[in-house]
Amino acid sequence: MRRQRNVKIVATLGPASSDYQSIKALHQAGADVFRLNMSHGSHEEIRERHKIIRRIEEELSSPIAILADLQGPKLRVGVFANESEELIEGAAFRLDLDDAAGDVNRVQLPHPEIFAALQADAHLLVNDGKISLRVTECGEDYASCEVITGGTISNRKGVNVPDVVLPLAALSEKDRADLEFVCELGVDWLALSFVQRPDDVWDARDLAKGRAAIMSKIEKPAAVKAFDAILEASDGIMVARGDLGVELPVQNVPPIQKRLVRKSRAVAKPVIVATQMLESMIDSPMPTRAEVSDVANAIYDGTDAVMLSAESAAGSYPVEAVTTMHNVAIEVESDPTYLELMSATRDFDRSSIADGIVSAAREIAEATDIKAICCFTQSGTTAALIARERPNTPIIAMTSVKGTARRMSLSWGTNCVITGELERFKEAVVSAARAARRTGYADSTDQIVVTAGVPFNVPGSTNILRVAPCDERLIYTTEPE
Ligand code: ATP
Ligand code: MG
Ligand code: MG
Repeated sequence: MRRQRNVKIVATLGPASSDYQSIKALHQAGADVFRLNMSHGSHEEIRERHKIIRRIEEELSSPIAILADLQGPKLRVGVFANESEELIEGAAFRLDLDDAAGDVNRVQLPHPEIFAALQADAHLLVNDGKISLRVTECGEDYASCEVITGGTISNRKGVNVPDVVLPLAALSEKDRADLEFVCELGVDWLALSFVQRPDDVWDARDLAKGRAAIMSKIEKPAAVKAFDAILEASDGIMVARGDLGVELPVQNVPPIQKRLVRKSRAVAKPVIVATQMLESMIDSPMPTRAEVSDVANAIYDGTDAVMLSAESAAGSYPVEAVTTMHNVAIEVESDPTYLELMSATRDFDRSSIADGIVSAAREIAEATDIKAICCFTQSGTTAALIARERPNTPIIAMTSVKGTARRMSLSWGTNCVITGELERFKEAVVSAARAARRTGYADSTDQIVVTAGVPFNVPGSTNILRVAPCDERLIYTTEPE
C-alpha cells in the first residue's frame, strides 16, 4: 500500500483497538506494524487480534508486520476492583502479595523478591515513572509507602525500583511460554524487554529458532553500555524510553536516542523510537506542540519507525494519533533540512559489493528522473541496505518470501511486494516494472532501477544493477536474457 511517507508507524493494540473495524481503521490511517503487548491480555485475545491483522493483510494483499513484545522481568502491580484509582500526594499506599483486587489504599505487587530487597526510604516508580512512592516501612510480604507524586494507577502498571539491584532472569517462565505461543501463531518480530547482555538476545534467538526476527528493547543502563554487542546480536532495536527514563536521569534519554538510531542505521538494522510520543492524545484529540516536535525530531534523527503505546492501545483517539504521526512525517520528509540530514549522516562503512550497488542505485536514482529503486531480496538484507541509504526515491522490495516482506515492512521507506518464484532476470525486470506501476510510483513512460543477484535462482548476494523502462514491450525488446 502506497503511503507517501518513508518513516513507519507502529501501533500497539489493546482494548481501544481490538476489533476488526478499529484495527482496519488504524491501518488505513497509516499503521504499518502492529504491536501485541504480551504484558496485557490473554493468549485468546492475542490470537484473535493476530487473526484480524492477517485477515486485513489478505484483503489488501499488502504485507503487515506483527511485533510481539515479551514482558520480560518487568515488575507490575496486580489489578484493581475499579480498574484504576487516583493516588493523592501525601496519602499512604500499601503494596503486598495478596491477589485480592486493589483499591485506593492497597494493591498486589506479586514479586516476593522485591519485598526481600526493599528498604525504608527506597523509591518505587509506577507507570513509566509518573507516580512516585517512598517506602516508609516494609516486611517480607508488604511495603507501606507514602505517595510522593500522585496520579492515576491502573491494572498491571509497571513498577521500577531504581535504588535497588534486583536479581532477575532475562526470560521468565511466562516469557518462554509466550514466546512459544507467538512463534507458533506466526509473528514477524519478537521484542525482548529489559535486555542487559548480548547473551539475553542469543538465548531468545535459540528459543525462536528463526521463526521471528529479534528486536532488543533498550531500557536498562547496562544495555546502553553494552549496546554495540547487543546490536550485533539483534535484528532490530527499540529505544524504549519509558523505562530508560526511569532507570537513568530523563535528560540522558535524548542523546542516547540519537546515538542508538545512528548506530542501528549504520549497520542496516531497523530501529523504533517508542513511548510517550503523543501521550496527551490518550485523552485529547489534539497533541501538544512538544509531542509533535518529539515525533518530528525522532524522524529527523533518521529512525525507521515511531511507535504508539497507550495512545492506540487504551486511548480515546487511536486513529487521530496515527493520523498525527502520518501528517508530521509528511511535513518532515518534505523539508530540505531532512534530506540534508539524511545525506550528511550517510557516513557508514560500505565494503561489500552489495553496499556499492545499492549506493550506486541511490545516486543514479537521485540524479536522474528514476521513479523507484526495485530490489530483489530473499533474506531482506539488500532491502535493508537500500533503506540504510535513506534515498529520496521510493524503495520497492521484491521477494518471494512472505516472512521477509512482512518483516521488512518495519524498515524505513520499504514498500514490500511478494512475487512468484522467478527463473530469469528478464522476468524479474518485468515484475519490478509491473510492481512500480501497480503501486503508483511509476507509469509506462518512466524508468526504474532494478538490483538483483544473478544467476537468478542461485542463492548469493546482489551483483547487478540495471536501469529499465517500465513499458513491458520495451523490456522485451531491449533486455538481454
Ligand atoms: P511496556 O513496558 O512493555 O511498554 P506498558 O504497560 O507500558 O508496557 P504499552 O503497551 O506501552 O504497555 O502501553 C499500553 C497501555 O494500554 C498500557 O498503559 C496498558 O495499561 C493499556 N492496556 C490495557 N490493556 C491492554 C492490552 N490488552 N494490550 C495492550 N495494552 C493494554
Ligand atoms: Mg517497557
Ligand atoms: Mg510502555
